[in-house]
Amino acid sequence: MKILFCASECYPFAKSGGLADVAYALPKALAEKAEVTLMLPWYRFMALQEASLSLAGRDRIEMGSEAHEVEYWEGRLGKIRTLFVKTPPIYESRTLYKEARNDLRFALFSHTIAAYADRHKFDIVHLNDWHTALSALFCKERNFSGAIVFTIHNLAFQGIFPARRMEDLGIDRRHFHMEALEFYGKINFLKAGIAFCDALTTVSPTYAREILTPEFGCGLEGFLRKHRRKLVGILNGIDTEQFNPRKDPALECTLEEEISRFKACNKEAFLKESTALPLFVYIGRLTQQKGIDLLAALCDTLSNAPLVFAFLGEGERKWEDALTKMAHKAPNLLYRGGYDEKYARLMYAAADFLVMPSRFEPCGLNQMIAMRYGAIPIVTRTGGLADTVHEREGRCGRGIVFSEASETAILEAIEAALRLYGKKSLLSKIRAFDMACDFSFERAADAYLSLYRELLIAHGGENLDIMKKSFAKGERE
Ligand code: ADP
Repeated sequence: MKILFCASECYPFAKSGGLADVAYALPKALAEKAEVTLMLPWYRFMALQEASLSLAGRDRIEMGSEAHEVEYWEGRLGKIRTLFVKTPPIYESRTLYKEARNDLRFALFSHTIAAYADRHKFDIVHLNDWHTALSALFCKERNFSGAIVFTIHNLAFQGIFPARRMEDLGIDRRHFHMEALEFYGKINFLKAGIAFCDALTTVSPTYAREILTPEFGCGLEGFLRKHRRKLVGILNGIDTEQFNPRKDPALECTLEEEISRFKACNKEAFLKESTALPLFVYIGRLTQQKGIDLLAALCDTLSNAPLVFAFLGEGERKWEDALTKMAHKAPNLLYRGGYDEKYARLMYAAADFLVMPSRFEPCGLNQMIAMRYGAIPIVTRTGGLADTVHEREGRCGRGIVFSEASETAILEAIEAALRLYGKKSLLSKIRAFDMACDFSFERAADAYLSLYRELLIAHGGENLDIMKKSFAKGERE
């Protein structure tokens, strides 16, 4: 089975959040059982060395009235064949998404994906989020012979642009209607993915149900309901080699036998002093989605509580300013802005509790990384958080769960955490239990492989014969 997996960001080259982690971990897990090519844009800030790559081909992509020169540079990311698409409108970017010509950049990337997939006869094209969603339409226009899977990692980001841009983006006007790209008089890239894919997935079973409702559907709930027959929720995992407390070089002390020593050593290194107080952390984008406004409003109360609270994140300016101000005022509240992978890992290992009061959360990776590093998650019961964190004994993993993102609920949960922190043996038991949970990507990769197989079987013909033969022989797909 030949899979082309496409995303706008991928760890370790370019990362703004969970999509980059998944774009690395999922192809890696799939590559154990199938032939995977990972296709990524080449942004100049990626610090790639041409010397470590080889030029695998050139293309001329027609888009609107222009033709763009495209180069495919091939490299390897472990077992994954990786293809970087190099073309000036994308390469010239200074940032991942804060660019004026986002519509042009990602429409061009999407045209390129469709051209490459079609020419090289992939069985499956797996697209992710709005940046690659238009490829579903472009593949159909080319009568692409394989099947198209589209995954929504966050429905809140849809890629909405003025309708007058259609011509320049190489989008046929006949797709400007409610059942395709039209969205309140504009064009919506994400809708192209939903409308034209063969299978639609999102990153947790709970979120798959939630997005069909007005509360979580971001205006697309009706459209999604029309396509619900092809919708399935597959829970993400994390790459357990990348996030490995036994080996992570970002940590002051890696995990050996004793969990308590591991935690204490990293906590002391992180805080630069030892303390008997519990350490709570928040790691993530500073947006309303993540409930940062609720935490910011609680800072005065937290500054008088018997705890240390450390924040790491970038995002909306007002929250960055608010957190900077409160960190100056209160000695037990700490804030670091910007994006810092190494610091984040030390924080997970140092923390007693990770607080994630998200209003909605498609899957969330933080809580799984936290558990792997021995930090107990405190989360809202929503989306993937509801699928990965449980209060009752027995199910992996365990944490503190509250039902709605509100200041009162967060405070109650923090009080419960403080009580738990006082019960040392229970705390150690939960910590050890969470650290032993299996959050690896293998289970998710198997679910995606089953889905790919079903699609190929539905496509029938040649693909089906090839698959039957390889199954019979027990070969790699
Ligand atoms: P998102 O909604 O942002 O995709 P996820 O929970 O799915 O949220 O993934 C977030 C990923 O980004 C995790 O790997 C988390 O550790 C990381 N992360 C978020 N903010 C920062 C930051 N400021 N510095 C370092 N890592 C971060």
